[in-house]
Amino acid sequence: MSDESDSVHRPGEIVPESGIYECDCGQSHGYSTDVKGHRFPPLPGDCTGGGWTLKTAAHPGD
Ligand SMILES: [Zn+2]
Repeated sequence: MSDESDSVHRPGEIVPESGIYECDCGQSHGYSTDVKGHRFPPLPGDCTGGGWTLKTAAHPGD
């Protein structure tokens, strides 16, 4: 399995990195602050995108 180009995370997947995620439809109308280990929420109802992309990584906590 190749993960190196996998930058889009679908709803229900485990969040790999804490940060602010934005939907990938290009309209910037949905974003979510997610915590590593949680699951991504559903996309906005009017979103035509396919998943979430990391917009701003949270500051590492250590
Ligand atoms: Zn969207």
